[in-house]
Amino acid sequence: MTPTTNPEPASVAAADDAGPAPALEPVPEPEDVRRFATERGILVLAHSYQEGFLQECAHFVGDSLELARKAAEADAEAICFCGVHFMAETAKLLSPEAEVFVPDLDAGCSLADSCRAEDLAAYQAHLERKLGVRPTTVAYVNCSAAVKALSDVICTSGNARRIVEALPDDRPILFVPDRHLGGWLQEVTGRELILWNGACSVHELFSVDTLKELQAAHPGAITISHPECPKPVRDASDHVLGTAGMLALVKETRGATFIVGTEGNMLYRFRKEAPWNEYVAAPGASCACNLCPFMQLNTPEKLWRALHERAPRVDVPEELAAPARRALERMLELS
Ligand code: SF4
Repeated sequence: MTPTTNPEPASVAAADDAGPAPALEPVPEPEDVRRFATERGILVLAHSYQEGFLQECAHFVGDSLELARKAAEADAEAICFCGVHFMAETAKLLSPEAEVFVPDLDAGCSLADSCRAEDLAAYQAHLERKLGVRPTTVAYVNCSAAVKALSDVICTSGNARRIVEALPDDRPILFVPDRHLGGWLQEVTGRELILWNGACSVHELFSVDTLKELQAAHPGAITISHPECPKPVRDASDHVLGTAGMLALVKETRGATFIVGTEGNMLYRFRKEAPWNEYVAAPGASCACNLCPFMQLNTPEKLWRALHERAPRVDVPEELAAPARRALERMLELS
């Protein structure tokens, strides 16, 4: 799937005469933020879960891996990644020569945090002792570079099924870190997986009871949910799709109402790119907005400051980068 492209995407070569940075306040209109970045050779990327203003500031909008690949293709010398930390790390892995920085270094991820590298290494050793064979570790891309480095192959929500199906059945498979995505993979592939007990704090809170109320209020609506949602929510949905699959479906469908079970800012992108449908956000059990609190740490002001200061930087030590890149390359071979 092609990421959204805002104007002025390609001209990211550093300009010698960019001049001194203007005063930081107020943040200008998105096209001026983008122009400022372009003049300084900075490629701005925004995940689809970022607020609309940040999406409008970006040269490209997409999911984490497609953005990282886009940056590598563009041969960007500097990347400002509006997303969470593991996404910026993935961009750094695929563009090792680029300077990578983010609006807020504290923008982490509950799912990535649920799988620490030292715990994974200990569990892999335990499984090897118990099973007499080292399992193949498949890591969903929503994990740290250190966890990627311990993994045999990476996957996205869009290609996870293909990756698992392509693996030989001579070794057990350990799937990390999302237990809901892993459970869905077991259902659709029929393969038995050993699941890490992690979850996304946004998707885990979708409630099947409120979803059913919404469905009753919108008869005929099409329900789409992310595979990071719990099984009862997935089972009550018409389609279980990653963000790229959702976007493709809403673009090819005309005049429908969609009930959407994923992070709330995704609806901004749907309304922009497929305005001919209606979109209703599925609420969570305890929060009506379904916005990711980590993504929300990135603000227009922090982006504007990061573009001026080219900081805070995200780096991946080479001893982690090399094995993590190998796991990413294995994904490209298998998908
Ligand atoms: S939506 Fe979930 S998986 Fe995505 S960054 Fe937020 S906590 Fe992590």
